[in-house]
Amino acid sequence: MSLCDLTARELHRRLAAGEISAAEVARACLERIDAVEPEVRAFITVTGERLLAEAERIDAARRDGEALQPLGGLPVAIKDNIVARGVATTCASRILENFVPPYDATVVERLAAAGACLAGKTNMDEFAMGSSCENSAFFPTRNPWDPKRVPGGSSGGSAAAVAAGEAVFALGSDTGGSIRQPAAFCGIVGMKPTYGRVSRYGLVAFASSLDQIGPLTRDVTDCALVLNAICGHDPRDNTSAPEPVPDFTDSLTGEVRGLRVGVPREYFGEGIDPEVKGAVGAAIDLFAELGAQVDECSLPHTEYALAAYYLIAPAEASSNLARYDGVRYGHRAAAGDFVTMYKKTRQEGFGPEVRRRIMLGTYALSAGYYDAYYKKASQARTLIRRDFEQAFERFDVLVTPTSPVTAFKLGERAADPLAMYLADVCTIPVNLAGLPAVSIPCGFQEGLPVGLQIIGRAFDERTVLRAAYAFEQHTDFHRRRPPLARAVMTSGKGLWGVVR
Ligand code: GLN
Repeated sequence: MSLCDLTARELHRRLAAGEISAAEVARACLERIDAVEPEVRAFITVTGERLLAEAERIDAARRDGEALQPLGGLPVAIKDNIVARGVATTCASRILENFVPPYDATVVERLAAAGACLAGKTNMDEFAMGSSCENSAFFPTRNPWDPKRVPGGSSGGSAAAVAAGEAVFALGSDTGGSIRQPAAFCGIVGMKPTYGRVSRYGLVAFASSLDQIGPLTRDVTDCALVLNAICGHDPRDNTSAPEPVPDFTDSLTGEVRGLRVGVPREYFGEGIDPEVKGAVGAAIDLFAELGAQVDECSLPHTEYALAAYYLIAPAEASSNLARYDGVRYGHRAAAGDFVTMYKKTRQEGFGPEVRRRIMLGTYALSAGYYDAYYKKASQARTLIRRDFEQAFERFDVLVTPTSPVTAFKLGERAADPLAMYLADVCTIPVNLAGLPAVSIPCGFQEGLPVGLQIIGRAFDERTVLRAAYAFEQHTDFHRRRPPLARAVMTSGKGLWGVVR
């Protein structure tokens, strides 16, 4: 195994012991990027020179006797809707193609303070709208487990980069499942923390009442380590919660005896692939064997979640995306008068899915329709949140599939928006309720990973991680690495700098 296939914790151990240097880890990742990127295409921008320079700085500080920070010297990949000063942030959109942000997102600052080194910015569905990475304006990313298949989305580049060993961990954003679903498709761990847990300052807004940043990692311990670094109140984000941040690694006991695990029946109905159901069912049996109290429950308003989401999210998006006007930043169409310039800029700059969402959202918010659509959706959202509150009176966590299916083929759903929207039917209710949830690998079907979703109470990431870690201790799905073809491994050519 190459250094770039190890977990953050294992690398930290070796770095702290002086067995390896941060520069060696950085070079291992860059070599892997060179080798697999022509096939996987997880990155929009690779910051190779910056990565090496940062790693060398960490090594120098170590030689001067400084202690190794918690993520010291670890290459991180960051979704291209989170800003890092001086590095292009495109949101995989033509409209931001040449935008270079003048500041760091809070999470980028916090990762830097924890010693992590930036490997690059990852591909995504344009403005995080999609479930396959095919809505990127630049190119689709491919699933490292099978390059004919999608990596999921919208944080597909981040998930593929971690699965393929191009970065040790990654950040994504999750509005309706965009961290958990690609984590499931790529066989890694992905967590959406509680709404408000992680600052959204420097995250390009899609749907502000749903968006949350979170980690994509090789295992649950790494997920806890990254959460330790990025969580916490931030005065620059007024939805950021003042809640104290615990040490998330503390909860990784390996014990679930007596833990009350609820299985919501609505998540096992029609539309869920029988193979996914099988793998998730086996995972639930394992919880019972480990001494958890497993019982069925109901979240009766689940059926309204998708419809409510596809009113609320586009409504918020239509407002958030009004700022791309060709005046303040990003693409500007060459045109005469102001109104023509504005129209042309947006026409040229936004792809078809983003335009669809803007139209849906504008319609839902328009006078005369507001009550019938946006207000109704908000009411459904309240009912969905209450369902969860009631379930959490009886249970500590709820377990469901992360996605109804395993990774689908490129192009298979691209022409049918509704089929694509259904990819997130299990993850969207969690965003509507603002709860924390993780996806962990729980099996393989015909060589493709299956994800298990564990949902917790607001601000109780610890219990979610405890359950996830106990499961991981008794399985080895998280140790498998995708069998990238030998040809791919040897075909690398120089890709440093921008690879768009
Ligand atoms: N696939 C969903 C959408 O297209 C969720 C995306 C996300 O979580 N960013 O809106």
